[in-house]
Amino acid sequence: MSTSNTQPTTLVWFRRDLRIQNNPALDYAVRRGGRVIPIYIEYSNSIKDWQPGAASRWWCHHSLKELADSLQQQGLKLRFFSGEPLKIITQLIKQTGATAIAWNNLYERTERDLEARISSACNDCEIYQANSSLLFAPGSLLNKSEQPYRVFTPFWKQARADLEMTGVSITRPKKYSAANQPQARLQGECTLAQLGLLDEHPWHNKLQQHWQPGEVSAQKQLKQFIEYAAADYDTDRDIPSIDGTSCLSAHLHFGEITPSQIVYTLQQYEFDRDGKKSIERFISELGWREFAHHVLWHFPHTANKCMNEKFNGFWPSRANQKLLREWQTGNTGVPLVDAGMRQLWETGWMHNRVRMIVGSFLTKNLGIHWLHGARWFWDTLVDADLANNTLGWQWVAGCGADAAPYFRI
Ligand code: FAD
Repeated sequence: MSTSNTQPTTLVWFRRDLRIQNNPALDYAVRRGGRVIPIYIEYSNSIKDWQPGAASRWWCHHSLKELADSLQQQGLKLRFFSGEPLKIITQLIKQTGATAIAWNNLYERTERDLEARISSACNDCEIYQANSSLLFAPGSLLNKSEQPYRVFTPFWKQARADLEMTGVSITRPKKYSAANQPQARLQGECTLAQLGLLDEHPWHNKLQQHWQPGEVSAQKQLKQFIEYAAADYDTDRDIPSIDGTSCLSAHLHFGEITPSQIVYTLQQYEFDRDGKKSIERFISELGWREFAHHVLWHFPHTANKCMNEKFNGFWPSRANQKLLREWQTGNTGVPLVDAGMRQLWETGWMHNRVRMIVGSFLTKNLGIHWLHGARWFWDTLVDADLANNTLGWQWVAGCGADAAPYFRI
């Protein structure tokens, strides 16, 4: 492959946007014409803190497999790499003669820093960046004093009004032509298996019984939720024994579906008055997801420190290991707590209300720092998400943005 190829070449850097529909970075590359080279880089080892946990890596592996198949059907080959993204991308630009690189933004501090380093190192290239993982890019919503919101209700009031005003557009799936793909193996390219996302010990086989990662399954799950559960969401979401929630969290985390696709799809259905109330409630839960990402973007230190600083030092930094272990393994003796923790271990997921209960039990009854709970969730949840997990844990512990009072059990 030579750098003198006259066609434009565009690298599409996939991260947590593992879909081909409504993917602005991929659309941009295809619109640009010429060669499109989709790439995925596994770089957990270069992340210092909050490296993806085991359940999350399992999901990612299977989602990538499906993405690679979908791209193949569109005439594109997903190339896998493992290592430092900046090094790999600059090498690829040299090797392929790429004149543009496109990606969809992520908002955690590590990702933002990485994007900034790549933008400045690749300044000879056209850089295309887009927001698609959130309804509103963090920083775009501020209160009247131009300050970040710390309370959900006013945040969502503004966001919901803006969502109404701007409407939600989604690009329809389109066929990508077989875009004159480079046939040769690229320098440093490896296979999906060589990314090492799956643990050697096949503990994760059990997850397969509960989840089907990937874009097709995300769309199917959404449709199923709308047809069977959405109209009663407002009441059923409070009852853990009912399958009354969407189970879309991991699909959303990995960008197999976007919140704008969800809102758009919901708008295509007719609901009666109660149904409409339920849909509004469901959209406001997507609003909590937005809020969590906005809070983490403005206050990145909260991944490890209490948002309300007076709680730093509130819990002993060393946890009682026996109590922690009993909590982790679902052996506290409190049936609902144990059921939730065992469900988490078995399936990689737990109902929101039960997450709140097990979190409250850990931080308030057992007096263990919320970070120990957050780290356990991080390793075991298939939907582990730094913004949502941080907000959820600090909410429960009573030390976060718009949190429950610390004395409320
Ligand atoms: P639904 O009720 O169908 O909601 C739809 C979507 O809205 C969810 O998929 C999710 O993306 C978003 N959402 C719903 N509730 C919340 C919320 N409270 N905060 C932020 N977003 C929300 N969610 C994660 O995605 N990853 C996490 O790591 C995570 N950790 C949590 C830890 C604790 C202690 C708590 C209390 C909550 C946590 N949540 C987390 C939020 C919430 O529990 C899950 O998003 C939800 O249970 C996922 O199930 P669902 O998709 O059926 O939700």
